[in-house]
Amino acid sequence: MEHYIVSARKYRPATFRTVVGQQALTTTLKNAIANNHLAHAYLFCGPRGVGKTTCARIFAKTINCLNLKPDGEACDECESCRSFNEQRSFNIHELDAASNNSVDDIRSLVDQVRIPPQIGKYSVYIIDEVHMLSTAAFNAFLKTLEEPPAHAIFILATTEKHKIIPTILSRCQIYDFNRIRVADIVEHLQYVATNEGVEAEPEALNVIAQKADGAMRDALSIFDQVVSFGGGRITYKGVIENLNVLDYDYYFRLVEDFLAGRVNHAFMLFDEILNKGFDAQHFINGLASHFRDLLVSRDSETLVLLEVGSSIAEQYGEQAKRCPLSFLYKALEIANECDLNYKASRNKRLLVELTLVRLCQLTGIVPKPEDEQIEIKPLVAVPISAVVQEEEPAVSPAPEKSVLEPRKVSEPTPTPIVKPTPETLLTPKTISVRAPQNLSISQAEQPRISTENVVTESEPVAPERRELFTVAQFIAAWKQCAKEIVDQAHTTNTMLNFLPEQVKEEQYKVLVVNNLQQKALLENQPAITARLAELLKNDFVTFAIEVDTTIAERTAFTPEEKFVKMQEKNPDLTHLRQQLGLEL
Ligand SMILES: [Zn+2]
Repeated sequence: MEHYIVSARKYRPATFRTVVGQQALTTTLKNAIANNHLAHAYLFCGPRGVGKTTCARIFAKTINCLNLKPDGEACDECESCRSFNEQRSFNIHELDAASNNSVDDIRSLVDQVRIPPQIGKYSVYIIDEVHMLSTAAFNAFLKTLEEPPAHAIFILATTEKHKIIPTILSRCQIYDFNRIRVADIVEHLQYVATNEGVEAEPEALNVIAQKADGAMRDALSIFDQVVSFGGGRITYKGVIENLNVLDYDYYFRLVEDFLAGRVNHAFMLFDEILNKGFDAQHFINGLASHFRDLLVSRDSETLVLLEVGSSIAEQYGEQAKRCPLSFLYKALEIANECDLNYKASRNKRLLVELTLVRLCQLTGIVPKPEDEQIEIKPLVAVPISAVVQEEEPAVSPAPEKSVLEPRKVSEPTPTPIVKPTPETLLTPKTISVRAPQNLSISQAEQPRISTENVVTESEPVAPERRELFTVAQFIAAWKQCAKEIVDQAHTTNTMLNFLPEQVKEEQYKVLVVNNLQQKALLENQPAITARLAELLKNDFVTFAIEVDTTIAERTAFTPEEKFVKMQEKNPDLTHLRQQLGLEL
């Protein structure tokens, strides 16, 4: 078997010139050497894998080179250089502080420092992960750092500069290493691939570079991994599968859905993404980045901020042209909001789905029912049974905009723009812009919908849905419904004050205190039921409304009321609640 060397080692730079992505820094170091302005201690800071130790080694080699080249690089030919390249030089000492962080370790290092080098001018001491040294070790080291022998140079490397005590910082020349840019990593990977005879798609290398997050060492190890996986070929498909990266394509398709208001497609795509094992928050972050990338693609000036390969960049440019600026701003905001609320949310899937709904409503375009073949419709579909059993089918379409906060009149409402997407070109009829409707579920103010109409509207509903849900999910959906009823405060309050309890499977029961509350709920029951069915993806969900006068006799029955009672006794509670951001 052939001796295999990992790429990160095989392609470790041996000269300043070949260090990738740290040009400003390497130039400064080279100049310092050329002008003989050497400090006794350097601190190399920066994330892992960006070349700190590599630069330290090159530095050690270069200052000891007996025959420096005019461009400031080591000659790689003299005895000192060769000993460095063959890793047998006595002029370099490396200490990994992560595993040798005791006072004794530092003392034995300090003892070595006194001995001058036999060949070359300098002994270089590299202390990696220097922030890991114990306080006692730091102190033991401090004296040597203050008065080092002329031949000694210390290079301290750390990923965590803030952990270095000020007395050390003040004695070092500090160099901050940057994360390596994606384009630089891609270029280097391309070089390695060519050298290794590996065929690689540029998009694939791009994904590797992004995954490496600015660290060349990581990029090269991922590279090795995908090479062995792909049998010497690196393809975009292979890479996203192997690295478990979410395909850009999903985001492109989702934005098309947002632009066309296709909630159902967006839900199905999200489901597919979850089924592939991706984390919902990861997905939301990716979506936010996608919006950001679309935003920077709109302008040739900001285009440089787009860190993707050329063919995908083209795709970004094309989609960005069709996204109104107001849409992108708002979409970024919504995605960011979801990310912020994610940790606190108890029903994370619902949170993301609501976010998708909001995004689909941004352009104000609502596809007609035939376009919505799958589950969710932007309008609350009223089950036929609910309509038939009532004499007066006083049923209102539910608030399509209710998930969004009501629009302020003064705000420049983004004009619903129907951009010629393939869909709209093919079926221009399916896009309709709804006139602003009453945002409440209030039936009194709504134009009554005849049974006939309801039937035709409900017809396209596919097979009945019956997804499992937990009591908690039901309650969350219930609260969601309550909040969507915009101008019936009484109904909203009743719904929030009286949470249903499970009777059996999808059957729930809500106990209220008086007839007024019962009436408020009864009037909205069909719409609420339909909305619950939609949110829970279950057409069998029902709830009964009963009056239980015994509840009224209890002093406090809702968390709010209990809280108010406690508050009366202890006013500090309000303050505490605000400070901790607690919800009841
Ligand atoms: Zn040399």
